[in-house]
Amino acid sequence: MQYHLENDKQYKGLTVKKGIISPPITNPYFQIKKKRLQYTSSEYTEQILKGNITILSQAVTLIESGKSEHQKIAQEIVEKCLPYSGSSIRIGITGVPGAGKSTSIDAFGIHLVHDRNKKLAVLAIDPSSERSKGSILGDKTRMEEISRETNVFIRPSPSAGSLGGVARKTRETIILCEAAGFDTIFVETVGVGQSETAVHSMVDFFLLIQVAGTGDELQGIKRGIMEMADGVVVNKADGNNIEKANLAAAQYRNALHLFPLPLSGWIPKVMTYSGHYKTGITEIWDTIYRYITFTKASGYFNFKRNEQAKYWMYESINEQLKSHFYQSANVGKELAIKEQQVLNSKISSFMAAKQILDLYFNK
Ligand code: GDP
Repeated sequence: MQYHLENDKQYKGLTVKKGIISPPITNPYFQIKKKRLQYTSSEYTEQILKGNITILSQAVTLIESGKSEHQKIAQEIVEKCLPYSGSSIRIGITGVPGAGKSTSIDAFGIHLVHDRNKKLAVLAIDPSSERSKGSILGDKTRMEEISRETNVFIRPSPSAGSLGGVARKTRETIILCEAAGFDTIFVETVGVGQSETAVHSMVDFFLLIQVAGTGDELQGIKRGIMEMADGVVVNKADGNNIEKANLAAAQYRNALHLFPLPLSGWIPKVMTYSGHYKTGITEIWDTIYRYITFTKASGYFNFKRNEQAKYWMYESINEQLKSHFYQSANVGKELAIKEQQVLNSKISSFMAAKQILDLYFNK
């Protein structure tokens, strides 16, 4: 037995017994494994094409990851899924916070899945979500009814990065969802910033949700969004709000008449409905499908998709050039120095930019 001072004869009554050696708190047979990619890109693709939602989710996580090994395999999956994509109807949904986007998406989703036998993927673009720590949009808890449906896939906004980066990830996610058999894709965004333009550039139909009685129906930024809209729907047309909603709808109709006829040749429709009481929903979807039929017949549908593909090619080039520029070591150091010089009026912003670019291009 080990020596213990307390066992000395001088300390009467004090003894230390042998006791039990306590076992380690962790299981010694348990090894912490480095997380590895589980599958090859072909295996991911095969499962996605079979409609395996767990694997689809994992592949979307790879798209969203900043790690280069994840990006590499994600790009391979997107490439492999591409031939199986494109056959869905992509709908952009926007509206200011409180307009009723989540309530409406819930109501639209239930209508599409139950009455029209559709498979729906709900995605979102919310570049602010990084700042607000956690996504506001595309959150399952906000869409209670459809989150219980097996034919609905909900994915919150990718949170990291610039709007361009977030939008690219959502666009790639659309491709995977289509390959997995989702025939209707919603892309939700908040109608307060630049993200509508990004959403507009990846959808076939852009739906603007408005509410009556906010007093700012035709003002400010929403005018720009109104011009992008293929349909304007006034929500909360229920109870004693019906009259106000009808009045707002009439105002929107008048306002839309002042805009030039869109390239699609389709005059945007204005409708009232209630997401909460699920009234007017069928009419909205009848109209959206009429638009799809109309633009497919005129060739505009394909034209727009091709234009969007071209747009994303350039977006992707721009984004990668930008990140290569900002991540290069010598630029990083010089940027901080030049920024300070510009702030102290020691050098013009144009000269500073030129010098940094010269450095980058090794001139
Ligand atoms: P979001 O921020 O655009 O997603 O809006 P929400 O869907 O969260 O709705 C904001 C608020 O408006 C909530 O309190 C909803 O209950 C309410 N709301 C949404 N749709 C309707 C509707 O059709 N009628 C009424 N009366 N209230 C609604």
